[in-house]
Amino acid sequence: EAKRSGKNQALFYSPQMDIGSADLIDQQRDLRRAIGMGEFVLYYQPKVEIATGRVSGVEALVRWMHPDKGVVGPASFIPLMERFGLISDLGRIVLDLALADLKRWQGMGLSLPVSINLSPQQFRREGLAEGIIAHVEGSGIDPAVFTLEITETMAMDDDARTLNTLATLRAAGMRVSLDDFGTGYSSLSVLRDLAPEEVKIDRSFVRDIEHSRPAREMVTAMVAMGQALGMKVVAEGVESAGQVAILRNTGCDQVQGYFYSMPLPAADLVMWLDRQAPSGALLPHGPDATV
Ligand code: C2E
Ligand code: MG
Ligand code: MG
Ligand code: MG
Repeated sequence: EAKRSGKNQALFYSPQMDIGSADLIDQQRDLRRAIGMGEFVLYYQPKVEIATGRVSGVEALVRWMHPDKGVVGPASFIPLMERFGLISDLGRIVLDLALADLKRWQGMGLSLPVSINLSPQQFRREGLAEGIIAHVEGSGIDPAVFTLEITETMAMDDDARTLNTLATLRAAGMRVSLDDFGTGYSSLSVLRDLAPEEVKIDRSFVRDIEHSRPAREMVTAMVAMGQALGMKVVAEGVESAGQVAILRNTGCDQVQGYFYSMPLPAADLVMWLDRQAPSGALLPHGPDATV
């Protein structure tokens, strides 16, 4: 029981929480204002199919365009939103933004699968799947363009609600991805029980593959295991050509990282895709583009 509450604390508290309560009240007010004013935007990071160089989709990563602080990353405000009970609001906002961008891209003849991140707290909420599906279906966008990236919680591997949620999302055509595999609670039992369509090897494993044989062997084994289980394997945090070469040898399906592109605002993403197209290597346009 002590162990369990320890894990819970890791979920709900972060270093920012050690600040005084006056600061917390300010932060909460700031976040509520940001929600009301629509200060959140999505950046998109391409996912590249390693064998062909084609873009297989993009991952939506939320940013807070703060009036004073500029662009604020999710690591500094998502734990606070969870604490203040605002994470469902963020989930709706993120889905709305993604649907609007998908509509704009559709109008340009660009069809691009989009991955959305869900925090464990969002995922445990009753009615999450129904809410997402109603939201997407109301927009006229095909739910099948979405992959939902989840990081599991300590309870996930034996939680009936989790499996129900996944089944409902899949029945609507959405895919499930296990994010940050190999870290925290992203364990083998979760890989087995959730049976995601995709598994993303955490950046901490990819980082050392050029210089560390154990790191390389570990990634090789993770790729083989994921594929043996019928999953697409994605390596995250790829920053160098050397890493790409090694990952290609492991048979890894897809790569994502600064080597290809940082997360980009939607307009910059379209320009990035256009720049890749003439080389013939990246062909995201047209009806055949969707993987
Ligand atoms: P994640 O889903 O594992 O996303 C990957 C993170 O690694 C992103 O950080 C991305 O910008 C960064 N990254 C990508 N390539 C590289 C690389 O080559 N090198 C390095 N050093 N970093 C790279 P970001 O955008 O700050 O997001 C952090 C985390 O916040 C995400 O981790 C995800 O768990 C969460 N997150 C992001 N957007 C959302 C959202 O809309 N909803 C929820 N619930 N969580 C989100
Ligand atoms: Mg992710
Ligand atoms: Mg990740
Ligand atoms: Mg991560």
